[in-house]
Amino acid sequence: MHVSRVGISKLCFLLSLAFCAFLLLLIPGLQPSQRHGDLPQPRPHARTTGSRTGTASRRSGYTVAVPLKPPGKPHGSAASRGRAGEPENSDANGSVRPVGNPLSTRKQNGPLIRDSYHYPTGPTGPHPRDQLNLRDIFIAVKTTRKYHKSRVDLLFQTWVSRAKEQTFIFTDGEDKELRNKAGDNIINTNCSAAHTRQALCCKMSVEYDKFIESQKKWFCHVDDDNYVILPSLLLLLSSYSHTQDVYLGRPSLDHPIEAAERVKSDGSTSVKFWFATGGAGFCISRGLALKMSPWASLGNFISTAEKIRLPDDCTIGYIIEALLEVPMTHTQLFHSHLENLQRLPTETVLRQVTLSYGGYENRRNVVSIGGGFSLAEDPSRFKTVHCLLYPESTFGDGQARSELTLSIQAGCV
Ligand code: UDP
Ligand code: MN
Repeated sequence: MHVSRVGISKLCFLLSLAFCAFLLLLIPGLQPSQRHGDLPQPRPHARTTGSRTGTASRRSGYTVAVPLKPPGKPHGSAASRGRAGEPENSDANGSVRPVGNPLSTRKQNGPLIRDSYHYPTGPTGPHPRDQLNLRDIFIAVKTTRKYHKSRVDLLFQTWVSRAKEQTFIFTDGEDKELRNKAGDNIINTNCSAAHTRQALCCKMSVEYDKFIESQKKWFCHVDDDNYVILPSLLLLLSSYSHTQDVYLGRPSLDHPIEAAERVKSDGSTSVKFWFATGGAGFCISRGLALKMSPWASLGNFISTAEKIRLPDDCTIGYIIEALLEVPMTHTQLFHSHLENLQRLPTETVLRQVTLSYGGYENRRNVVSIGGGFSLAEDPSRFKTVHCLLYPESTFGDGQARSELTLSIQAGCV
């Protein structure tokens, strides 16, 4: 077949054009980008954990978080205690809906979310050169004198016994017995023992200052009715860098809170922001905590909270989302008793980061997990969880399980 030289040149020209077009498609900058706002991205080599369930956009100098659902009435009775509502995966009864395949990305009332009670599987382990150690985490437990026996003792018998060096108990009254157990890690804030906004903000202010002083990489706050699953916490935080701006927690409401802006302006405008409910626990990277200093350090936290007239956990959200414009990373691995904890699938319980129990409304609101102890022996289920995590444990200061159950067995086994 005769092909003219002109024909060959044309063919070559067309082929080179097609090749160039192909090369252009490969340039990443020309790809349509999937925007994640300014959210810290989990490290590539780590198993990712927390995921954001809302989207954030910036307007007029503050972060406006777009709710997953149209704003609704908060569930539960949190308003009376200064905490508000339920997380976005809750049904109208305040129950947590189980979510599906951990790796799936699915639509739930609009935005795409990837979340579940599970950790997505992937390449395992944090980046080997910057491996996070439990010692790098500062865990603040907020309590009050009247709960030392009924709540804090249980924490010392269980998870705190595995993280004694880095767990700090912030309370409001002296207790020699507790000091014997916790030593310098019990901090008498001298804040009022009342359950008022001022008293709670006073404690949070001391927690913040002590964390900054500690030089640790992560600040995690929990209440005295939380169980911290330490391996899960470590795994979660290992997915991020403490030098990034990271604020991890569970939203209390299914929509951002709105408050009059009295820090940056005179209160005539309002500001919307997400906050992590304190009763489920939350974590903040050191990098971000340092940036919070003008509004949080050395008593400034109390004056910031006073200005916006909101409780401690909301004030944290306000400083981070509204003032610093850093969006919160939403995760469903943290749990408060505002949720129906029984709805948490049993096989996922040990992979959560925090658990809780009870609540005034419902003493039977506990995670559903069997093993070690009966409900009568272990109403919070914390001992049972602890035994499943650390089967070799004994309870308390050498107090064996046999003393509690009159069984001949000691500890968990
Ligand atoms: N708390 C406190 N002072 C009080 C009452 C409670 O510091 O007067 C602490 C308590 O130890 C817990 C947190 O505040 O860590 C939340 O208290 P609680 O669980 O009783 O109430 P919730 O807000 O969870 O319903
Ligand atoms: Mn509580």
